[in-house]
Amino acid sequence: MRLSALLIASTLFATTAAAQTAPSPELDRATRAVQADVVRWRRDLHQHPELGNNEVRTAKLIAEQLRRIGLEPKTGIAHTGVVAVLKGGRPGPRIAIRADMDALPVTEPAGLAFASKVTTSYRGQPVGVMHACGHDAHVAILLGVATALAAQKATLPGEVMFVFQPSEEGPPTPGEAFGAALMLEQGVFRDFKPEAVFGLHVWAGLPVGSIGVRAGPSLASADEWSLTVRGKQTHGSRPWDGVDPITVGAQILLASQSMIARQINIAATPVVLTAGQFNSGVRFNIIPDEAKLVGTLRTFDAGVREDVIARFRRTAEDLAHASGASAELTVVNNAPATINNPALTQRVRPSLQRAVGADKVVEMPMVTVAEDFSQFANTVPGVYFFVGSTAAGIDPAKAPINHSPQFVLDEGALDVGTRAMLQLALDYLGGAPQG
Ligand SMILES: [Zn+2]
Ligand SMILES: [Zn+2]
Repeated sequence: MRLSALLIASTLFATTAAAQTAPSPELDRATRAVQADVVRWRRDLHQHPELGNNEVRTAKLIAEQLRRIGLEPKTGIAHTGVVAVLKGGRPGPRIAIRADMDALPVTEPAGLAFASKVTTSYRGQPVGVMHACGHDAHVAILLGVATALAAQKATLPGEVMFVFQPSEEGPPTPGEAFGAALMLEQGVFRDFKPEAVFGLHVWAGLPVGSIGVRAGPSLASADEWSLTVRGKQTHGSRPWDGVDPITVGAQILLASQSMIARQINIAATPVVLTAGQFNSGVRFNIIPDEAKLVGTLRTFDAGVREDVIARFRRTAEDLAHASGASAELTVVNNAPATINNPALTQRVRPSLQRAVGADKVVEMPMVTVAEDFSQFANTVPGVYFFVGSTAAGIDPAKAPINHSPQFVLDEGALDVGTRAMLQLALDYLGGAPQG
């Protein structure tokens, strides 16, 4: 009796699960209708990349398409951001979907028919500009999703805000805010408060056709730290007459690595502390009076982040003090950790599985890159997933990763991203059964 009840229950569950993961002909039709445009937009954007806060042409292309589908986009948010709300014909929840718009100071090699030849200056240096992170794909996919949803506006439940965000990679001018923080500061979620926000990233570390997602901590928090060690200048032949900030800086750098390895529970959550610059002095036989180290800290938990910063500061100050020097640490947070809301992740995972096939949705490992999508996801519950972009026949583990000039997007990722985000939005708005 007990056994047969269990059997019936498991058969029912299997049937429901199968129905939930069956590909939907409506989704196929809706995606196919925008497919050619999505490819065309992406190639256009790829050929005309723009650095953060300078996405003028990109914003114009976005606003024009949003107007074409009957929306009233607001432009000029956080410099070049664009936002529009689609109001469905039926009552339902409010959600937001976000795409980032900016390119990187990377020179694209020749090859693609629509390769970028754009050059500009970045912090005083002449550079090429390339969509080496794939944000061209994100904009094109979100325009495709907006177009497909607008086509079914009359029967669509709820409201969708499309958020096109500038400067995810950071502002070209030091001191300016990152795009997501500035959009929120300018009230993007004030009048229209979504109950959930979604985002995606094309990712060379996964094969095209697949999607990676995980509940909880997904992408790291990124801090930019700066350490100034002050000693006392003297002749290089007579170090005892001064205080050598280079030796002290080197000691602090090595001690910081021991600190991570010996004081932090890295079995609970990963921590990375890296110095990317170590500058000091002007001449071989002068001990300078100052050394400056600049680097990044990556963590996945706000409490761990605070703890590591406190320990790093203590290590630096005490080591400097021991040598008669002083050390001053400043830390600026560029993006908090991206934490996928566990309940929301559980809810949307079946939609992703339905869109691309259950076996194509894989558990994503934590990645130590950062994303300022976290600013939105810290304001309302959010889910951020990865869309594989490495062509079949190439090992994703060896494919040039995002930010490399050799990063190549397989255009199949455009279709996968559009299908996945569209299915997710339709299921969420329609109140599809939870996974
Ligand atoms: Zn990037
Ligand atoms: Zn990116």
